Amino acid sequence: MEKRYGIAVSPGIAIGPALVLDTEGVLIPHRTVSPDQVEAEIAKLRRALEETAADARDARQRMSDKLGQEFGNIFGAQQSMIEGEALRREIEERIRSENYSAEYAVSRVIRGFVKRLEDAGRRLGDSGAAEARRRATEFIDIERQVLASLLGHPTNPLENITEPVIILANDLLPSDTVDFTPRTVRAFATESGGATSHTAILAGALEIPAVVGLGRFLTDVSGGDTVIVDGTKGVLILNPDEATLSEYEQKRAELLARPDRYEHLRDKPAVTDDRVHIRLFGNIELASEAAHCLDRGAEGVGLYRTEFLYLNKSTHPTEDEHYAAYTSVLHTLGPNRPVVIRTLDLGADKFSSVSGAVSGEKNPFLGLRSVRLCLRHIDLFRTQLRAILRAAVYGDLRVMFPMISTIDELHQCKLLLNDVKESLEDAGIPFKRDVRVGTMIEVPSAALLADILAREVDFFSIGTNDLIQYTLAADRNNEHVANLYQPADPAVLRLIQMVVQAAHKQQIEVNVCGEMSGQPLYIPLLVGLGLRQLSATPRKIPEIKRVIRALTIAEAERIAAEALTLRTARQVCNFLSYQLRKILPSDGAD
Ligand code: PEP
Ligand code: MG
Repeated sequence: MEKRYGIAVSPGIAIGPALVLDTEGVLIPHRTVSPDQVEAEIAKLRRALEETAADARDARQRMSDKLGQEFGNIFGAQQSMIEGEALRREIEERIRSENYSAEYAVSRVIRGFVKRLEDAGRRLGDSGAAEARRRATEFIDIERQVLASLLGHPTNPLENITEPVIILANDLLPSDTVDFTPRTVRAFATESGGATSHTAILAGALEIPAVVGLGRFLTDVSGGDTVIVDGTKGVLILNPDEATLSEYEQKRAELLARPDRYEHLRDKPAVTDDRVHIRLFGNIELASEAAHCLDRGAEGVGLYRTEFLYLNKSTHPTEDEHYAAYTSVLHTLGPNRPVVIRTLDLGADKFSSVSGAVSGEKNPFLGLRSVRLCLRHIDLFRTQLRAILRAAVYGDLRVMFPMISTIDELHQCKLLLNDVKESLEDAGIPFKRDVRVGTMIEVPSAALLADILAREVDFFSIGTNDLIQYTLAADRNNEHVANLYQPADPAVLRLIQMVVQAAHKQQIEVNVCGEMSGQPLYIPLLVGLGLRQLSATPRKIPEIKRVIRALTIAEAERIAAEALTLRTARQVCNFLSYQLRKILPSDGAD
């Protein structure tokens, strides 16, 4: 049994068979076979090894012809390993002694080799480790090729599963999660990733337990192994022993039997103890989540991440598809609840393969993403704006531009919006002219220019997920700099304060829609900084409401004022935890 700790991103406990996704998305459907199938499995293995060796021979020849023998020899080494007796004998031995399926035996044996190589490399110091890693990568490559030969080349790894699995991967893109539903995927765990990566956000939205940023573990696990994911504590357990398994089975059963802890608050108002109303909105990625907002007592949608319309699609959504999604959200929420449509925030880690996005950018997070991409591909932008304006007829739809970093960008967006209105007018198509326009504040330059931007829009929404990464120059998806990526960093707090003050001075609405507003720890601080609107994953809303109802404005302002005098993120966090324990003495800081 192996226990690993990572970043908890979506709560809940799941137990089940692993589906290890490497770059090829390999699924091992059966772990064992009946004794009478053993010889057939061995024959299957031999055929696969022969096929893989032939491929390696072929690759060696082609590479030698193209670049010379030296390069060809790289494949020669692989060919010798595949053709060598040692590998085949060990795999066959496992099939015979353990009744393993050929696929599972291949995976177990090769991952065992890799682990031994890595352990040896660690003992040998830097140069030894590098050589061991190189050899290990070759083995992993062989594993992939043999499995591809054994299993065919599945296009969708979830296609053939017979029971829900736990996905284990180095990293997942939001588009990898397309087919994840609680019916097919019980949980997922990844080696890379951070708390606000989009895949993590999607896991929260789909309510699938998830842990990310676990560091290397894929070499210690094979498809079909039993694993436990504790998305509440951020734990992954590989091949649990009997006692651990029953402990977690019990925990899981208790969790399922427990009603939503703060469900009773659903219909209670989100007012502080001294009767100040804080408006709570939901963040959604899919139109179908609008219902979750109502279920959790949200007053509307504070952030609709419309780029998720690209999920499962290789082409751009049409105007009608945009329109259908927006009207469906309005239909669920009714005509009076606000719905903030954020225009497409494509690029970087979100659907970066759409046409128009530049592939191979060195720094995609600083590149042609989000509103920059839309302004470069006006047709794409126009299509969405037309659909928003048309759908706005049916309710309180608002439009919001992401990643604004200069005043000029905002001007261009507004000009285009006006242009789209004119063209709808000319064509006699019904639309709403006085739709409210807002901008996200998620780049430090926008926060610093908030006083100017505030004169140009009807509302601000502070996207702390990006604001933190750009302020601290710490990639939100990179676990290696997760220590720097802190919402509580004094630099972030000062920027939030600056934005709120600019909004108040100009008397426009201001909201926080980053993950920070879903964390009870930060609620007193945000309210104390002057926020009267927050937008979070619907599931978090009852918990946030609970903090708000236990708080007074004077207390929140005192907390914010003191937090702003502190010098490090750690000091701020400790201070906020202590304050939260005082506000909610029954269960302390979450
Ligand atoms: C943010 O950056 O805080 C935000 C809400 O947008 P996203 O997480 O989609 O980048
Ligand atoms: Mg953002």
